[in-house]
Amino acid sequence: MKRLSKTKKVLTGIALILLLLIAGGAVYMYPAFTFFFQTETQQLDKDLTIVLGGGGNSGILVTDKALVVIDTKMGGDAGDLFKLAKEKAAGKSILVINTHYHGDHVKGNHFYKGSRIFIGNYDKAFLQKEVDPDNMPTDYVKDSLVLDLGNETVMLYDLGQAHTYHDMVVYLKNRKILFSGDLIFHHINPFLKKESGADVDKWLAALHVILNKFDLEKVVPGHGATGGKELVRSMIDYFGDMKAAEKDPSKANDLKAKYKDWVEMPMMTSPQATIDYIRETGH
Ligand SMILES: [Zn+2]
Repeated sequence: MKRLSKTKKVLTGIALILLLLIAGGAVYMYPAFTFFFQTETQQLDKDLTIVLGGGGNSGILVTDKALVVIDTKMGGDAGDLFKLAKEKAAGKSILVINTHYHGDHVKGNHFYKGSRIFIGNYDKAFLQKEVDPDNMPTDYVKDSLVLDLGNETVMLYDLGQAHTYHDMVVYLKNRKILFSGDLIFHHINPFLKKESGADVDKWLAALHVILNKFDLEKVVPGHGATGGKELVRSMIDYFGDMKAAEKDPSKANDLKAKYKDWVEMPMMTSPQATIDYIRETGH
């Protein structure tokens, strides 16, 4: 009898520990999953809507000549975005822009059959391996492309290798708004993958190009909330600090602590993961 109650106590203890681990895990994972699976729609002005989350952040812009969709999300949120775009298009043709090829930005492309879908100048064979046939873009932008759409001029710039091999940013000239794609993660540790072409030094160079090239009133990052020019600077500081931490491990803890409130994607992104990536790739 006494032994049984002891076993019971041990089992209850184990169950409690497991519950705590699951709850702790859920709290740890929650911030990362909210920006992937929750959306927030913001009307920036009469003709410009942004939908944050549900994959990468997206934009829907009504112009005199066409409706522009920037990044098409994934899963159910991609369908919702398309519905909203179709409504706002009110019969106008739709132009789609992908800032880069990752699934969270292109997996809704298949909804826009018959539309032109612009992306940076990737090698087509590479994209065919990475993107489902249904979601393949139709037009590759070499360096830049200016779309004069009447009441807004939409400027596309392939900034080359950074987060992937050909990241494209979209600048709305009249509004001075930049859609940066994943060149900027706002308060989120960035996703770095060798197979995608992520290169921290080239990424830093692209961020400096953004700072110098554009008059910025607002920045819509690839993930996270919108902001101003300071978003570009915070990304530059982050990579600068992670490079310094890699070079001098005695400073690593202090440098990593500066970013303790930046969201981590469990098992994928963190200050330490960035430092390891810099070490592994040599830049
Ligand atoms: Zn993304």
